[in-house]
Amino acid sequence: MVLATNLGFPRIGDMRQLKKAVESYWKGKSSAEELLSTGKNLRAHNWKLQKDAGLDHIPSNDFAYYDQMLDMIATLGLVPKRYNWDGTNVDLDTYFAMARGAQKDGVDVTAMEMTKWYDTNYHYLVPEFEEGMSAKLSSAKIFDHYEEAKALGIDTRPVLIGPVTFVSSGKPRYDGFNFAATVENLLPVYEEILTKLAQAGASWVQIDEPALVMDVNDEQRAAYKNAYAKLAKVAGIKILLTTYFGELRDNMDLAFSLPVAGVHLDLSNRAPHQYKDAIAIIPENMVLSLGVVDGRNIWKNNIRNSLNIAEFVEGHIGKDRIMIAPSSSLLHSPVDLDSENALDDKVKSWMAYATQKVSEIAVIAKGAQQGRDAIANEVEASDAVQEDRRTSKRIHNDAVKERVANITPEMTSRKSPFAVRQKVQQSALNLPLYPTTSIGSFPQTKVIRKARADFKKGRIDEAEYTETMQAEIRLVVDFQHDAGIDVLVHGEPERNDMVEYFGEQLEGFAFSKFGWVQSYGTRCVKPPIIYGDVSRPNPMTVEWSKYAQSQTDKIMKGMLTGPITILQWSFVRDDQPRAATSKQIAFAIRDEVADLESAGIRMIQIDEAAFREGLPLRKSDWKQYLDDAVEDFRITSCCVDDATQIHTHMCYSEFNDVIEEVAAMDADVISIETSRSQMELLEAFVAFKYPNEIGPGVYDIHSPRVPTTQEMVDLLEKAKENLDERQIWVNPDCGLKTRGWAEVKPALNNMVEAAKIMRSKAKASAAA
Ligand code: GLN
Ligand code: ZN
Repeated sequence: MVLATNLGFPRIGDMRQLKKAVESYWKGKSSAEELLSTGKNLRAHNWKLQKDAGLDHIPSNDFAYYDQMLDMIATLGLVPKRYNWDGTNVDLDTYFAMARGAQKDGVDVTAMEMTKWYDTNYHYLVPEFEEGMSAKLSSAKIFDHYEEAKALGIDTRPVLIGPVTFVSSGKPRYDGFNFAATVENLLPVYEEILTKLAQAGASWVQIDEPALVMDVNDEQRAAYKNAYAKLAKVAGIKILLTTYFGELRDNMDLAFSLPVAGVHLDLSNRAPHQYKDAIAIIPENMVLSLGVVDGRNIWKNNIRNSLNIAEFVEGHIGKDRIMIAPSSSLLHSPVDLDSENALDDKVKSWMAYATQKVSEIAVIAKGAQQGRDAIANEVEASDAVQEDRRTSKRIHNDAVKERVANITPEMTSRKSPFAVRQKVQQSALNLPLYPTTSIGSFPQTKVIRKARADFKKGRIDEAEYTETMQAEIRLVVDFQHDAGIDVLVHGEPERNDMVEYFGEQLEGFAFSKFGWVQSYGTRCVKPPIIYGDVSRPNPMTVEWSKYAQSQTDKIMKGMLTGPITILQWSFVRDDQPRAATSKQIAFAIRDEVADLESAGIRMIQIDEAAFREGLPLRKSDWKQYLDDAVEDFRITSCCVDDATQIHTHMCYSEFNDVIEEVAAMDADVISIETSRSQMELLEAFVAFKYPNEIGPGVYDIHSPRVPTTQEMVDLLEKAKENLDERQIWVNPDCGLKTRGWAEVKPALNNMVEAAKIMRSKAKASAAA
């Protein structure tokens, strides 16, 4: 039989119940029992929903109170020493201490590091491998949840993160770390888990190995072979090895050579064709799980396409060896589209969230099992959606398409090279050495948030809203004046979010009310939905910037978000390549750049916070992405005169492997994060001899600490050792919106002081 299956369901709840329960527990407002019971209810609800939808394989152990990697760390008993764990089962407090640090009753421990899960916006806790650490089964969660579902009459398929992916996603904390030995160390615990699951009655276990879609080295390859040879020996349970987030490519042979009962393939538009190679090499009797429903996006499935794939595969291996599945866990999809009451009906009719995707899987499986006629209505409805999207005037804008098709070299290069522009800008802008500025936002106070919410809800009119925001701008401008900052910003009070703010004013974007996706722990994000060709009907920031400039004789920097970042932090179209969408956004932002310049704004910053995080998983795909990203930035910024200075900002970035492309963007000034790493990040800029100007952040805005003048002078001295003095700008690491005025004022005053000290040192050495 063709089976309808799922790899994971979002656990936050349709109304973010889990977030609320966990945060209330943290605040001491509810007990552990209350939290555990919320968890239990959510799991029961999700299992039942999947059962009612007609799924044959429903996952368990996909639930986590914070993060599934952290659960795996707990299950394997790999708790770092600093948590003083007693070695029994990991309890809730130890669990949350690892997740977020703990500071009470004389305990003061830092959290484990968090990083992005592949190229998603989900962040996991990074396993730490300490010297002499040994693995030991230290959580009963996977068994408990299996039994919990069974008690509800649902026989689930438990999910585990595989040993090779687990170790590959972690960090050694000592010299002499050995990859193979570390994996080997974990295998007895995995074997114990599988044995116990088999005893409990589980017939399948899902083991996630997304590391197989990345570049795999010889050590990992050997570890896969060794690990699965051992795990496959556990009797009475079948292993489904799941790969997702891309194509297996050169790892396809490896994946299908492992002695597992089934392999899952991502067949979303990141990897639509790989089933053809897979059926050519799949061993006799092995099951193939077809990930035809996109687990990471919000569009309805093309049922006809999915059925075509299923039937093709069926022709080769038969019905009994096929599972229909989402491409990846549905963790990365919002929960239930039916909750949405604010979305435009048309756009909504094209969409599916996790709950809807589960039904699509059941439909496709039914069609594959019983034949097309059995799902004729569903195919017809799906065809109608595809046709509607293909022809909709809401999506397709010929003028936009034409513009993107006709990019000329003039559009992507400034009028003169940087050396020429630098001179023109120096005389036009007349800035001192070590010019001071900030990254854009200033503290988002209660007043600001309230005014924005009131305006959105219609409680205040536009005039009152504008007046409130202008008052905030005056406050920020006055402060910067008093502090003696050279290049001013308006503070971004009108922006809730640096992507949403622009999306709301662009054509082709929609916003959901309940499209929440877990980003990390209890933090959820609601990405904008790019559904159609993107254009900018009206200026978006010009009035605010003009107003801010009217309040000062100093230079007011315009502030925009760049195309790559807007793309990266949104749900994107699946009916055209990502690069086509970002190109359209680039033109929309270009129009804004041009309008700002015409309005007298002489300096414009285009933030590309997500430039690096958009890098593809495979090195061989990097060049194409980077070429596109550079072109996008140049389209956005190259319409201005030489005298107009273009800034960009990138946060959290490591630059070593992308420095040439960063330089190719040809921004006049780039600001980056450096203060935490003691200017180490600058190394890339130095080694490459970065030609333009740089503002290495000297104030760590991720901490409430106020840096002293001396600390910032020390950092600037380090920068000066490596760069030409005329290249250096002085600014914080990132925007100040999450900070309070009480810290920001003294910190920026100290920063200006530090710049002055650097200037007088320069003067003294020039005189000497
Ligand atoms: N201009 C934005 C701000 O200051 C930049 C934020 C970011 O880089 N994440 O808030
Ligand atoms: Zn930043």
